[in-house]
This record gives sequence, C-alpha cells and structure tokens, in this order.
Amino acid sequence: MRSICVFCGSNPGNDAVYAAGARAMGAEIAKRGLTLVYGGGAVGLMGIVANAALDAGGEVHGVIPKALREKEIGHIGLTRLEVVDTMHTRKARMAELSDGFIAMPGGIGTFEELFEIWTWGQLGIHAKPLALLNVAGFYDPLAVFLDRTTEEGFLKPNHRAMVMTDTEPATLLDRMQAYVPAATYKWIEKEQA
Ligand code: AMP
Repeated sequence: MRSICVFCGSNPGNDAVYAAGARAMGAEIAKRGLTLVYGGGAVGLMGIVANAALDAGGEVHGVIPKALREKEIGHIGLTRLEVVDTMHTRKARMAELSDGFIAMPGGIGTFEELFEIWTWGQLGIHAKPLALLNVAGFYDPLAVFLDRTTEEGFLKPNHRAMVMTDTEPATLLDRMQAYVPAATYKWIEKEQA
C-alpha cells in the first residue's frame, strides 16, 4: 500500500476530539511513508488531516473541483493540488490514486464518498480496503443501521464485512495493510447461484 485516501468533514465538528482524531490519522499515515490523498481543502477536518501529514514529513495529494476551490479553500501547502472539472472527476481521481480508503467523521459529503467507494467494492470494480475511523463512537449509530440492513436482507454479510472499523489510526492501518480481499462480488455470485 502506497497511498491512502481519507474522506472527512469540511467542518471540524463541535468537539475537539474530532480534530485530535484527524491529527492522529494524518500523522500516522505520514509516519508509515504513505501518501495522503484527500479532497484538497484547507477547511475543517480536511485541512487538519492534511496539515498533520505535512507536519510529520508526509506527502499529500489533494484533488479539488474548480467550483469548490474558493469555498473549501484549496490548500496551498500540499505536495500536489490537482484541480479537476467536476465532483465526479474528483471522486474518480481519488479512487484511482489510492490503495485504500478511510472515512473519518464528517457530513453528507463524507458519507457519499464512503458509500460510493463501498458500492464500487461490492460490485468488484476495485478490491481495495475500506475503513471507518470511529472517533468518539461517531459511527456507532451507522454500524447499527448497517447491521439492520444486513439482517433485513439488503446487504450481504460479506459485503457488510468489507468495511473495517477501529478507533485507533495505527490499528486501523495495520488491518488495512494486512487486508486480503474476498472475491465475492454481488452480481457474479448471483449469476453462479
Ligand atoms: P462534508 O462531509 O459534507 O463536510 O463534505 C466532505 C467533502 O465531501 C467535501 O470536500 C465536499 O466537497 C465533498 N463532497 C460533498 N458532496 C460530494 C459529492 N457529491 N461528490 C464528491 N464530493 C463531495
């Protein structure tokens, strides 16, 4: 694994615990010599994770759409800031550049990015590890809902298991680096059944 994409809030959240989590995540990525790929903004947890990786001597590659460059304040200190035309290009580019994906606390933009990359994994478009950094139990209610989705037959247990969850950046990255994808994709399985 050479690069990790982090999806996270363009807001910092109301509790300082989220910023602390973002700092720890960015520092741990840099410490392992991994490149951080993210949305390129200087605001919220996005800016915090990027600064932590840069401060720890890491490389950071941001991907920001033209239209958001002012709103999310394109980070000027990055190793590379790539400006793209659309939100869709941004996500596709982040996916292409990254060997694994982590969602930290954030809002609907973060959720959208997590769910899109997860559905691509479910369809077998990629076989890269996905994870949630569950800072201060932020993702506990989502885990409950996802378990219910599985129990109700809308999500297969093996697809539910594709998303690893941990509270510690180091443990999370250890698990991602050891990840071996299970080749059980949604439609392939159905066709074989
Ligand atoms: P949020 O979690 O809502 O603070 O947003 C986090 C990041 O997701 C920000 O960089 C947003 O610009 C980005 N984002 C929001 N919606 C989308 C989308 N539909 N496609 C790509 N990125 C998005």
